[in-house]
Amino acid sequence: MRLRRCYTPQQLHAPARLELDPRSHHHLVNVLRMRAGDAVILFNGDGHDYHGTLLEASRRQASVEISRQSANNRECACRITLMQGLAKGERMDWVMQKATELGVHAIQPLITERSSVQLSGARLDKRLAHWQAVVISACEQSGRARVPAVLEPVSLKTLRDSANGVVLHPGDYPRLPQVVEAPNGLDLAIGPEGGFSTAEVTRLRQVGFVAASLGERILRTETAALAALALLTLGDLREGLAAG
Ligand code: SAM
Repeated sequence: MRLRRCYTPQQLHAPARLELDPRSHHHLVNVLRMRAGDAVILFNGDGHDYHGTLLEASRRQASVEISRQSANNRECACRITLMQGLAKGERMDWVMQKATELGVHAIQPLITERSSVQLSGARLDKRLAHWQAVVISACEQSGRARVPAVLEPVSLKTLRDSANGVVLHPGDYPRLPQVVEAPNGLDLAIGPEGGFSTAEVTRLRQVGFVAASLGERILRTETAALAALALLTLGDLREGLAAG
């Protein structure tokens, strides 16, 4: 049986016994229907996996005995921050999930002229918590033990100098692989459904972003994010192939 992984915000160490927080309890016992005696891996974002066994798995509480810990090295060597133009609900969720699977370091939602979504106050808090849940669940599934930061949306107008930034924009620009020498520490800006305005591309270029294209076809914003991240993170796979 596939070993279940579960995020918990609690401090973890091995050996230890701990009672699970409400979310992990619900996830393991009600969603995954795990029972006492089942093996589980817990992680809290510190880069380790904590291997253990469910001691108790009742409706009221669940506890785990952690027997050992191991370093988890599934992180992408490049620290890419995806600066994603705010798109509508499901698209944004999809981008967050796939970007996490592809190893993104952080996700910075960008408020742009053509973003049709308005977020503030309680609605913003709710959406941030939702996005956090999406990336955590993608870490559980993909085996990552570090959770990418989901930052509060910022206006594109407030962006300051980027030493290593690329803005993706359809048009007569060099292709993405031509402008990225090394994706380490890259800020990757992608427009919302309606794209960036000309003024926004100019502004991004003024603060150091290099404009790049993904080819002749116009991709949906979520496809563009996925294609660009796959291109940039495939370096890891190539190294793996070379190493045999
Ligand atoms: N009509 C909009 C425009 O021309 O900008 C299309 C926007 S596209 C649906 C959404 C975002 O995906 C764009 O702002 C860009 O960041 C990215 N994108 C889509 N296709 C692209 C391409 N061929 N080259 C570069 N970026 C692309």
